[in-house]
Amino acid sequence: ARDQIHNFAAGPSPLPQPVLEKAAQGLLNYDGTGIGVCELSHRGKEFKAIIEGAEANLRKLLEIPDNYAVLFSQGGGTTQFSSVFLNLLAYRRLQHANDADYAPPTVDYVVTGSWSSKAYQEAVRLSIPPAPGAKPFAEPRIAATTKPAKFTTLPKADEYDFSPEAAYVYYCENETINGVEFPADTQSPYAFPFDRVPEGVPIVADYSSSFLSRPIPKIERHAIIYAGAQKNLGPPGVTIVIVRKDLLVDTTEAMKLGGVPAVPIQSEFKTLADNKSLYNTPPVFSIYVSALVLEYLLNERNGIAGIAEANAAKGEALYAALDEAEANGKLRVVVKEKDARSLMNVTFVIEGEGREKEFLEGGEARGFRQLKGHRSVGGIRASLYNAVTLDSVKALAEYIKSF
Ligand code: PMP
Repeated sequence: ARDQIHNFAAGPSPLPQPVLEKAAQGLLNYDGTGIGVCELSHRGKEFKAIIEGAEANLRKLLEIPDNYAVLFSQGGGTTQFSSVFLNLLAYRRLQHANDADYAPPTVDYVVTGSWSSKAYQEAVRLSIPPAPGAKPFAEPRIAATTKPAKFTTLPKADEYDFSPEAAYVYYCENETINGVEFPADTQSPYAFPFDRVPEGVPIVADYSSSFLSRPIPKIERHAIIYAGAQKNLGPPGVTIVIVRKDLLVDTTEAMKLGGVPAVPIQSEFKTLADNKSLYNTPPVFSIYVSALVLEYLLNERNGIAGIAEANAAKGEALYAALDEAEANGKLRVVVKEKDARSLMNVTFVIEGEGREKEFLEGGEARGFRQLKGHRSVGGIRASLYNAVTLDSVKALAEYIKSF
């Protein structure tokens, strides 16, 4: 039964029980209509109320300023690796509409783990010139990276090298696989160095695995923030994109000027914004459940402050147990620097022949599920998203102490 299981999945991840119960009902018969939520028109008044309510609650929870559009897009975080590049290059091209010799801009990536690596690689791929020998569409740069440290820490402020004229700067707030997260405290030496990014250069953040886990520091300093739903928001399917409205540009006009890659219409933020995210059929079920989660977070979890407090307590409990076990030589915590540690994805390695398997099997017997680290890095990963309770985390901490 669900209540005997502690689900530490990295995503898709657990959702609040009351939300699931309500969603199950809505799947069969939405609000007394006799029709399930996935059987209603996405242009009808019922779905309009769902998506508009979700947007209003999201704006309230994260204090999203009015000069940002909130888009409900599809294709996951992976599609955003491409979409942010395409839209911001189109923006840059239109800013330089009258340049006779338009030069491909640099795009600056902060590479702190597997996901920012993938985003960077997509920018490299999409920069490939339209013909051999022709100008590339952009020049991707790595402005800072912790790859030499195997992505187990974050860069310090003076390790960033931003180019003054970049079309944008990109970072991943929480690296789901490696377990590093930029600290919420903007005074920390490991905080993202907003002040070092040259004035006017748009900042893009992948918030996929930390979205809604706590407030977004310096939200107004960002150009684009995006996040797939499947961690703290809802089921996979919908991806939230928060875009500063002046960056919503007609990519067709940019394409006509030349020097930019073609932009599929589904990736154009302006089209999504102009059509209130209903340019085509949206992932209605994912949006519906996300709307229920947002309502729940606002009303039952004391908003973002309550959520942040609970997540901090969970992280503290687990890292304390891990540090103690490490001091006793039982295991190795992957991220040493406290300010770089993720509160959402906690990674560690059990040393010794066969011990990791033993740990996982013992955990299974106690109801702990989905603790295996990502296949690319191995080890153990406990994901502590919003719906994971402090009791579950304490149970895991006790198990670690006794192991
Ligand atoms: N960015 C981050 C930080 C992620 O954790 C993930 C997936 N877990 C992605 C991007 C890719 O998202 P998707 O699988 O939705 O394409």
